[in-house]
Amino acid sequence: MKINFIGIGEAFDENRINTCIFIEDASLLIDCGYSAVQRIWKEDLHNKINTIFISHFHADHTFGLPALLVRYYEEKRETPLTILGAKGIEKYIRNITELGYPNRIDNLGFRLTFQEINSDSSVNLESAALTFAKADHIDSSFAIRIKKDSKSIVYSGDSGYCTEIVELAKDTDILIHESYTSQKDKEAKDLKKHSSFLSCGLCAANSACKTLALVHILRTSCDNNAIEQEVRQAYRGTLLIPKEGEELEV
Ligand SMILES: [Zn+2]
Ligand SMILES: [Zn+2]
Repeated sequence: MKINFIGIGEAFDENRINTCIFIEDASLLIDCGYSAVQRIWKEDLHNKINTIFISHFHADHTFGLPALLVRYYEEKRETPLTILGAKGIEKYIRNITELGYPNRIDNLGFRLTFQEINSDSSVNLESAALTFAKADHIDSSFAIRIKKDSKSIVYSGDSGYCTEIVELAKDTDILIHESYTSQKDKEAKDLKKHSSFLSCGLCAANSACKTLALVHILRTSCDNNAIEQEVRQAYRGTLLIPKEGEELEV
């Protein structure tokens, strides 16, 4: 499966696009923050997206959707689009789109459907199977596992260390984990709902994933050597700190 790291940044980084990932084999876009949309068009990915998964209702993961949907309208998209997310996904997307572009959401010119998911859900796309686990962030935050043939990809969404994600990521080919800051910084700031580099290492070691990829790194904590040193306290497998726009085949 081919992964395109459209964005790998956190919410407010002036140099990095919000974390946003495209899984080409599943025609699946994962999260869509306010800085991701331009890049989706620039990379010519917009016509390849059939399904969008929203990990949680924070703006750096969702506020690109009004622009994405209305540009689809402008460019006369006809292909149906499905948005997957936690309970309330339809109301949330309707609200943010209505604020930005009143009276447009019901007249997009293509069929837009919403599907609520929870940790027991399984969704079968044409070419991949999706399962989910509760993440430890805000209410209704979910991680996703994408499986195609013998390959799988897991994305944590924003989350502190949690056993549900360890289980979801068991033996996966790649665990893409939110990785906010160092353990020391996390403790100093009492950040309970984000992961340190060390806790990502622990999650990767305990899930026995083959590769760990770190995204959503705090703009002041992007020192790759320091990150690797901390991850290595717990995890010996392959470690990747993807660059924006990087593509990877698993
Ligand atoms: Zn968040
Ligand atoms: Zn975030």
